[in-house]
Amino acid sequence: MERILVSGPSITQKEIDYVTDAVTNAWYGNANIYHERFERAFAEHVGLRYAVSLPSCTAAIHLALLALGVEPGDEVIVPDVTWIASAAPISYVGATPVFADIDPETWCLSVEGFERAITPKTKAVIPVDLYGNVPAMDALRAIAERHNIAVIEDAAEAIGSEYHNRRAGSLGNVGVFSFHGSKTLTTGEGGMLVTDDEAVYRRVLVLRDHGRQPGDRFFFNHEVAYKYKMSSMQAALGLAQIERIDDLITMKRQIFAWYQEELGDIEGVTLNSEPSGTKNSYWMVTVVLDPHLGLSKQQLMEQLSQQHIDSRPFFHPLSSIPAYSNTPEAERARAVNHVSYKISPYGVNLPSGLNLTPEKITYVSQALKTIIHGAHGAG
Ligand SMILES: *Cc1c(COP(=O)(O)O)cnc(C)c1O
Repeated sequence: MERILVSGPSITQKEIDYVTDAVTNAWYGNANIYHERFERAFAEHVGLRYAVSLPSCTAAIHLALLALGVEPGDEVIVPDVTWIASAAPISYVGATPVFADIDPETWCLSVEGFERAITPKTKAVIPVDLYGNVPAMDALRAIAERHNIAVIEDAAEAIGSEYHNRRAGSLGNVGVFSFHGSKTLTTGEGGMLVTDDEAVYRRVLVLRDHGRQPGDRFFFNHEVAYKYKMSSMQAALGLAQIERIDDLITMKRQIFAWYQEELGDIEGVTLNSEPSGTKNSYWMVTVVLDPHLGLSKQQLMEQLSQQHIDSRPFFHPLSSIPAYSNTPEAERARAVNHVSYKISPYGVNLPSGLNLTPEKITYVSQALKTIIHGAHGAG
């Protein structure tokens, strides 16, 4: 039988038509027509003034840190449990990532974890909208304001999520998105930086094009900067996807609802939460198992794989992986981030691609239930 993959995009004739037009016509004088339309539609969707298309979300975080003036010697707080892309750009600019604990319900940066990680060197915080959920942003922002800490919201996994009727990505000083092939809206590879801060916006435009002013025709560089631009073909794909964003979000929520029907009442299984006042766009349907079942995420993934089902491990705490584990900061974090270390070993992302059918979800859910019952028996 065909493997059930963990993610997959929704591509229609609209995407194919736009990309075909871009590759045919969007050159030289017309090279930016799709970027302009994509950025405008994206800014409007998020509800902010400015959007800048970039080659990745990693690049967007890098430029956000630079534009906000984060420098060597500064500290930037990130949740311990996230994809490494949330933290790596902190190292690119010579600052130190500080790993804070997550909340047991949202799995996002916790208010106490954030507060405890603040020092006089803290310059910025990067809350992450994990798997589509949104952290307690009102409380996080109030603390950040009190300590003069800039907020970069990593909404890579949360396009379409909402917090008190505001869209994910619009909740900090700067928001960043990813259009990697696994994400809800995809351009193959790609990213977007959004903000209402005109100074940040203007700075990012210069930094992403080798230190040239936008529209420069004399190839005159004022500083050494970066080359972080999206291609026209990607922008065309992104435009088609953002024009279909309501459908994509509805499909994601439908996939979660199907899983919830199958798995919602099983003892020892926790699914993604949706706290009141929020809307979760459920990028990845995720199960966290009660440790009493005696099944680690590795064991669960292995057993699902035997049933032709691909899955992904809940992100490992950054303070636990070789990229960071030998640093003094990781050692400090391991001693205090109890929630991160309690949840991560027992979490697995289930297949959540936009090409899933109810039949496949029933199949995955049945397999999961059988594995869990087996674990009960063994225990
Ligand atoms: C996917 C992802 C990123 C990185 O996105 P790229 O476009 O691959 O650079 C950053 N943060 C989180 C939380 C992600 O899931």
